[in-house]
Amino acid sequence: MLEAKDLVLEYGGVRALNGMSFTASTEQVTAVVGSNGAGKTTLMNAICGLVKLASGEIRLDGAKLNGLAPDDIVRKGISLVPEGRELFPKLSVLENLLLGATVRPDPTRRRKTLERIFELFPVLANRQKQQAGRMSGGEQQMLAFGRALMAQPKMLLLDEPSIGLAPMVEEQLISAISDYSRESGIGVLIVEQNAMLALEYAQHAYVVEQGRVALSGPAAEIRDDPAVIASYLG
Ligand code: ATP
Repeated sequence: MLEAKDLVLEYGGVRALNGMSFTASTEQVTAVVGSNGAGKTTLMNAICGLVKLASGEIRLDGAKLNGLAPDDIVRKGISLVPEGRELFPKLSVLENLLLGATVRPDPTRRRKTLERIFELFPVLANRQKQQAGRMSGGEQQMLAFGRALMAQPKMLLLDEPSIGLAPMVEEQLISAISDYSRESGIGVLIVEQNAMLALEYAQHAYVVEQGRVALSGPAAEIRDDPAVIASYLG
């Protein structure tokens, strides 16, 4: 279980997180949806230790994460697919994948994880030597997922994975990741501006507004509530 309690974070005078609290199970898909500037990317970066909280606490399975260095947070089981993917475009597909595994030295587990990723996204297996920057947008997103999974996370964080992708590709990718999460027992926390897409695959959801949770509940209920859509997601 990933738990965030009363998170506060400011950039200069701007309060990006303003008492954000939520929990996300390591066994299901949780969505965080909300409009531009609601604090979604800041939340992801705070969980990963990339920005510093003013106050609040983040725990994974009871162990405190905030205050740890980003690589230690990865070792504890949090892996981020950042907005815009941030691959190494000149490096090959395989090199990008292996960079995701630097915190997991055991070669046997590393090989098994790589095989599993190649089953999930066969295009990565077929293009291992290709430069990452020469892949299509959808293939690059698969590579970004694969690189994050190489760290063998308990919880995978996806920041706006649908950006720049055709609707059919978005659906295929989110569906593949949600199947993988179910089969391998890892949690997914997905932040999306395309709220309907995230709510379709999530079991639980939080709607955020101005740095805090405005409401939460089963994703299907939020998706089917016209008043919620009109007020927060329209
Ligand atoms: P988007 O979907 O547009 O990425 P978001 O929900 O992810 O939005 P954040 O990017 O977390 O929201 O931004 C939350 C608030 O913090 C916004 O008001 C934003 O302008 C501000 N903000 C974000 N990053 C910085 C920064 N580096 N310096 C100053 N203000 C920032």
